[in-house]
Amino acid sequence: MPSPTSSGAITSVLQETRVFPPPAEFARAAHVSSLEQYQELWNRAKDDPEGFWAEQAGRLISWFKPWDRVLDWNPPFAKWFEGALVNASYNCVDRHCEGPNKNKAALIWEGEPGDRRVLRYQDLQREVARFANVLKGLGVRKGDVVALYLPMIPELVVAALACARIGAPHTVVFGGFSAEALAGRIQDCKAKVLVTADGGYRRGKVVPLKENADGAAAVCPTLQHVVVYRRTGLDVAWSHGRDHWWHELEANASAVCPPEPVDSEHPLFILYTSGSTGKPKGILHTTGGYLVGTALTTQWVFDIKDDDTYWCTADVGWVTGHSYLVYGPLALGATCVMFEGAPNWPDEGRFWKIIEDYRVTILYTAPTAIRAFMKWGEQFPRRHDLSSLRLLGSVGEPINPEAWMWYHKVIGGGRCPVVDTWWQTETGAIMISPLPGATPTVPGSATRPLPGIVPEVVTKDGTPVGVNEGGFLIVKQPWPSMLRTIYGDDDRYKAQYWSDIPGSYFTGDGARRDENGNFWIMGRVDDVLNVAGHRLSTMEVESALVSHRAVAEAAVVGKPDDLKGQAIAAFVTLESGYAASEELRKELRNHVVKEIGALARPDDIHFTDALPKTRSGKIMRRLLRDIAAGVESGGDTSTLEDLSVMVRLRRFEQKAG
Ligand code: ATP
Ligand code: MG
Repeated sequence: MPSPTSSGAITSVLQETRVFPPPAEFARAAHVSSLEQYQELWNRAKDDPEGFWAEQAGRLISWFKPWDRVLDWNPPFAKWFEGALVNASYNCVDRHCEGPNKNKAALIWEGEPGDRRVLRYQDLQREVARFANVLKGLGVRKGDVVALYLPMIPELVVAALACARIGAPHTVVFGGFSAEALAGRIQDCKAKVLVTADGGYRRGKVVPLKENADGAAAVCPTLQHVVVYRRTGLDVAWSHGRDHWWHELEANASAVCPPEPVDSEHPLFILYTSGSTGKPKGILHTTGGYLVGTALTTQWVFDIKDDDTYWCTADVGWVTGHSYLVYGPLALGATCVMFEGAPNWPDEGRFWKIIEDYRVTILYTAPTAIRAFMKWGEQFPRRHDLSSLRLLGSVGEPINPEAWMWYHKVIGGGRCPVVDTWWQTETGAIMISPLPGATPTVPGSATRPLPGIVPEVVTKDGTPVGVNEGGFLIVKQPWPSMLRTIYGDDDRYKAQYWSDIPGSYFTGDGARRDENGNFWIMGRVDDVLNVAGHRLSTMEVESALVSHRAVAEAAVVGKPDDLKGQAIAAFVTLESGYAASEELRKELRNHVVKEIGALARPDDIHFTDALPKTRSGKIMRRLLRDIAAGVESGGDTSTLEDLSVMVRLRRFEQKAG
């Protein structure tokens, strides 16, 4: 076992040996179809990054004017494709209308109540151009920020692309956020216009978006106009002069609006991170490099072909929705499914029904959803024909090997490769992931860096760690879709990402690399446990717990301990049919010892009915840490999904204590 050091090394205890080579038939037809081809691409990009990226940029994106320089790297500030003129909306819409794809479905949308709409590329072009004219009519000019606070309806995509069309950066705020969270984001980026809806559907109820928008608008002096889309028919308060109905403005808007050529480095959007580790950061992405990164990864990781029906279940309020529901797939002219509702409404089979109904071929979802599906049981997917699926993806958190296996077997029928994609709001696009026709997959590992991406695992002082030793995950070379800064705060950008490991981008995540070159993400460095001098990954202890048949989900945190430095506290939710008991607690402790060793034995096991998560479904360990330590939580809870989970956990702790 590697020696415990103050260098930041993390001890790995997880063992996983199952390997799944790409199915031969899949590989034959794939964009990248062998490990050798992948390796060649990766080496080529490593040796000549600018040549590699220039080639991808020329191949994937239409430019109004070519660049003078591929990269201007003034660490930590990057400019990609400087001097080039481009437009994201043109790339995602208009250029597909110039050829045979004009009548191809761009968005196949289903609302929560079951209503359906299909927007062909021509329809999308008309809608986007019209709404761009609406924004212009409200005085929005190139560079003005527009906030979008909408349900998962096609108008969200239309509005985002309309902003891009006229060079107005958008900031999408997830429709589940409160008035305060919305106000904070509008104030931070000084948005001039807010686009919202009267309401949105969520599990049969109407979420009063306009009411929240009014609450936010009241404290946002920069905001001049609110555009309201009528989705639910809910009665709404009206501020005359400030508020406008989408349909009224659009009725008078021309459907002709030429896309504005913008500089490659023109801001495309500002997006706030999930807030798993603290107050969300406003990440700024620009146009040219972001488009190249998202288009390339969509093509290689999802292996998108012209006849695929691709479904990314993420809300556009998260970066996954931006990059893999909007910009990446639409830049490639793909057909995307978009769904407004929850996976368990009206029942737990809703996702599987959608896959059956539209013959979805590629599914991209999150571990939190997969663990919920496991908990609800196999009977739901079993009722539907999932044979159209050919590829599965995962993003957002480390996927526990047991969840990976379930996804592969029960959803993928054992025939679909699973791509576990590691990336961040900050990276803009997928960084570490299998290429499904090339990379042998291993449950729980994101496997290899994509061509053009040079990650490394290092100690605190930047020294590379050995094989299978855990450490800090960094990226050594700039890449086109990287964040350009934290909006309005270059100093925080430098301090947050570029000062821990000098000269490199620090991701905030821990990882190890195994003897086959596969990366294993071990969770956030802030969450790492420090037990008797050993730094342990939360992900590994959690995966051991989840591999027990009674456990649905687990979150592990350290709590202060005089003897060991930290003791391990585990919060566990159970599969249906299992009840909390002292005996089960003992059994789980022994199970962890058996799976990964005595060092990782949880000291406390708390049974709970739910874990605190961000609205995007990520476990918020920092809140559990406070509960385990018995202290008040001081941190930001604006992105917490359900405050009552915290109230219940605290009440329980008080009783138990
Ligand atoms: P904040 O930065 O505000 O704390 P966040 O990091 O959760 O929030 P995101 O940018 O949405 O915000 O998430 C990126 C993080 O999600 C990564 O740094 C990583 O910890 C985790 N993650 C994403 N995909 C994977 C994956 N495939 N495997 C492991 N972890 C992943
Ligand atoms: Mg983060």
